[in-house]
Amino acid sequence: MDADLCDVLVIGAGITGLHQLHSLLTAGFRSRLLKAGTGVGGTWYWNRYPGARFDSESSSYGYFFSPELRDEWNWSEEFAGQPETEHYLNLAADQLGLRPFIVLNSRVASATYLEDEAWWEVATTTGVAHSRTCAHPRPGSTASPRSRPPCSARRSCR
Ligand SMILES: Cc1cc2nc3c(=O)[nH]c(=O)nc-3n(C[C@H](O)[C@H](O)[C@H](O)COP(=O)(O)OP(=O)(O)OC[C@H]3O[C@@H](n4cnc5c(N)ncnc54)[C@H](O)[C@@H]3O)c2cc1C
Repeated sequence: MDADLCDVLVIGAGITGLHQLHSLLTAGFRSRLLKAGTGVGGTWYWNRYPGARFDSESSSYGYFFSPELRDEWNWSEEFAGQPETEHYLNLAADQLGLRPFIVLNSRVASATYLEDEAWWEVATTTGVAHSRTCAHPRPGSTASPRSRPPCSARRSCR
């Protein structure tokens, strides 16, 4: 038996992955979250181009299940910019006690189900992990690193 065997491996530390990790830990599952970059935030970690911000009210975004976070946090703008949202998700990771369960710099390259062991073998940039189940809440379509707005927001794609 693999001593580090998880019940569930969560892939990606955006707002969805962090919530999923919290829910799994709360329910008593042995879980880890694998995260490609050096920090949490998903979309709000990767997209750092000038002017990156919410297009819906920031007050509609967040972990409303946590009274502590709800009480402590106030958005400074109606449509907050990327740094503030990234800050919120970092605060959430701290307050919800998620840090010890997050493996940074760990991009998942492949996941193979091994019938005999009845577990997933997950190859990452930091090694191999084993888990009964894998959860990839979102492949991160808006989380590709961007240093400037996507083509549609620029005059030319050249
Ligand atoms: C500029 C901008 C403005 C936005 N405004 C709003 C808004 O106003 N309201 C709103 O609701 N939404 C908005 N969004 C959408 C936003 O993406 C979502 O709200 C939300 O942040 C998505 O969170 P997520 O956790 O589901 O996915 P993501 O934040 O995309 O996180 C997925 C994570 O998975 C990681 N990952 C993917 N593949 C792997 C792998 N193989 N191994 C390890 N890690 C992996 C990615 O690196 C990423 O960190 C906006 C997005 C952008 C870019």
